[in-house]
Amino acid sequence: MLLRGARLLAMAGVHRNDAGVADLLVRGGRIERIGRSLSAPDAEVIEADGHILMPGFVDTHNHLWLSQMRGLFGRSEATRYFPLVERLGAAFRPEDMRVGTLFGAAGALAAGVTTTLAYCDNIRSPAHADAAIAGLRQAGIRARFLYTSHDGMAADEPVALDHLRNLHDGRDDWSAGGLIDLGLGLRTPRKDAPPAEFARAAHELSVARALGLPISTHISGENGPAQLDALIARGWLGPDMLLVHATGAGPERLARVRERGAGVSLTPITEHRVGYGLTRVNDYLQPLGRVGLGLDGALGGAPDMFPVMRTAHNVQAAGLGELSILPRRLLELATIEGARAIGLADQIGSLEPGKRADLILVDTRSLNMGPADEDSSALLVYSAGSRDVALVMVDGRIVKRGGRMIRLSEHATAQAAAHSLARIRRRAEPAPPSAPY
Ligand SMILES: [Zn+2]
Repeated sequence: MLLRGARLLAMAGVHRNDAGVADLLVRGGRIERIGRSLSAPDAEVIEADGHILMPGFVDTHNHLWLSQMRGLFGRSEATRYFPLVERLGAAFRPEDMRVGTLFGAAGALAAGVTTTLAYCDNIRSPAHADAAIAGLRQAGIRARFLYTSHDGMAADEPVALDHLRNLHDGRDDWSAGGLIDLGLGLRTPRKDAPPAEFARAAHELSVARALGLPISTHISGENGPAQLDALIARGWLGPDMLLVHATGAGPERLARVRERGAGVSLTPITEHRVGYGLTRVNDYLQPLGRVGLGLDGALGGAPDMFPVMRTAHNVQAAGLGELSILPRRLLELATIEGARAIGLADQIGSLEPGKRADLILVDTRSLNMGPADEDSSALLVYSAGSRDVALVMVDGRIVKRGGRMIRLSEHATAQAAAHSLARIRRRAEPAPPSAPY
């Protein structure tokens, strides 16, 4: 397939500083060549004049499974995020895990997110996990499935490690040819937690590391510093670990994180919405080597990386000035740096010959956009949204074209999510009191 005539934004590699009009040839799921006036007589040609061609976004953290709950949060005392997820999450059946994960992944894909880390923290049975993985497969997104707990589990109860091992051993059956990989979602205890919690976490970690699985863990809210202190004190940090939020870490703890090679996922929109404080990206970029951005799921609203970049930019600029972080840097965090943070930078995150063909075309000809020039970064960060993503390709396979999803019905996917939510809410309603007569 030959994408012809778009303005190139390669983000890294030999074409990093090319900002002209270029062609890109995809073969066998990989980027084969990038250049001017490429000829490939046997290839299907997609005319991309008026578009920006860039790598797909890398979403380093997302609770996709609860995507049908989008819009419910923060409307009243009863709809605060954590208690509502706990209450409705208990009423999810495997089919709801599939529907929610598919709905969230499809929405992310439609917005140009080609890779996501699905932190699946509602695994109430092996069937719940299998169903969520089925949703990822149906969507056709590149993903890491992070196996973790649910809100009803005791802090010293390990996740279903036998099922985790089975998934690892049988990954050829479900990984969609390697498009989906597996990891552990670790519940990190606070530094002052009881020994049984540490024993549970140590056991999970040893199993995951013996299998070579990457690890994501929340370091968040008021518990954040005490959780990070626990990881540092136990020597558990490592290059296979991604810390989500890293709230309140401060420069000294972040220096330890850097020494041990761990990455950080920042999700500015949800961090603000849930009250973790303002996310100042520069506080993490300066001490750390590996930082990515994340959508974090339904609490963040629309699964769209453009407003995540915009929010991160605004908070930084509001405190330190217009040029304190450049839009180009935000685009790096949302693509190549995100890929680096999750250990996939050798395969995705930039447009380079040899990498997997995960890419998007952003239409610049709509009323909210403007002409692209030699630096399209501010246009993308400040003007673009998911509606401008005209084409999305994952692993050489087109999932969105002409502004429409082509491998699934948008209407049917959204409707299945609405029906699932209605069933969940009915199940979660308290039983009516028995009649007095
Ligand atoms: Zn999270």
